Amino acid sequence: MQYEGTVYRPPSEANSFLLQATIGCSWNHCTYCAMYRDKTYRVRPVDEILDDIAETGRTYGPHVRKAFVMDGDALAMDLGQWKPILRALTDTFPNLRRVSCYATAMNLLAKSQEDLQRLRELGLKLLYIGPESGDDVTLKRIAKGASAADHVDAAKKARNADMKQSVILLLGAGGTDRSEEHAAGSAQLATDMDPEFLSALTLTLIPGTPIHKQSQSNRFEIPSVEALLKEMRILVAGANPRDAIFRTNHASNYLPIQGRLPRDRGNIVQSIDAALDGAVPLRAEWLRGL
Ligand code: SF4
Repeated sequence: MQYEGTVYRPPSEANSFLLQATIGCSWNHCTYCAMYRDKTYRVRPVDEILDDIAETGRTYGPHVRKAFVMDGDALAMDLGQWKPILRALTDTFPNLRRVSCYATAMNLLAKSQEDLQRLRELGLKLLYIGPESGDDVTLKRIAKGASAADHVDAAKKARNADMKQSVILLLGAGGTDRSEEHAAGSAQLATDMDPEFLSALTLTLIPGTPIHKQSQSNRFEIPSVEALLKEMRILVAGANPRDAIFRTNHASNYLPIQGRLPRDRGNIVQSIDAALDGAVPLRAEWLRGL
């Protein structure tokens, strides 16, 4: 099986079968994102996708427990495109526990509740959604294509279809001038979207992206490490989902943390405070990655 271009997956899909059903991202405008700039969005021919599933089935059949469907927002595929893929995954891998993919708020809002329900019945159980911020000014600046309210509506549709959500926020996305608003808005959004999984990544300025150009012309300034930790503190102190696993284990972060929110809020805040006081070592800059 061959992949087209670089492929990306969430850290928690490290052991999953990575199936490239779409190429690129149907939106592809977020100013900080370099992942699919070299790709034009398209859905691969279904025969090719089914061949990839069959080939993997012959080698790994009973060992595959999770499948992650790529690329950047595979939920953009319509129900007719998803159906044969999900059926083939279920038929090929007897021990498959879940299928997941990246999704945008726009993808969810474009689908009917019935179609989402059908996708869930066919095995699509988890969506990774990256609003990055709950601050509408920041969302507009980073060209996310959807507001905080859109993300809350999208999350409701996913929940009504019984799909689990992993919500990703991006420390630093508001720059220095919206740092606090970005963090406070993100805490509110985490509460309102009420996901099962919540993670924070840290913005990295990648050459070739619009936000990198903005920083070079002094139109965007990334917050200091201390300010980024304070953003994380505001997020953790304010986010009130019913019960979410919270992780900052992505390689971009200075302080890897894991716990449940709201249950472990006190401990997590203490860890962040210890890092702010210099009592906990931070990930070295050269060890950080995307
Ligand atoms: S929606 Fe996701 S994959 Fe697409 S441009 Fe934005 S961050 Fe990148």
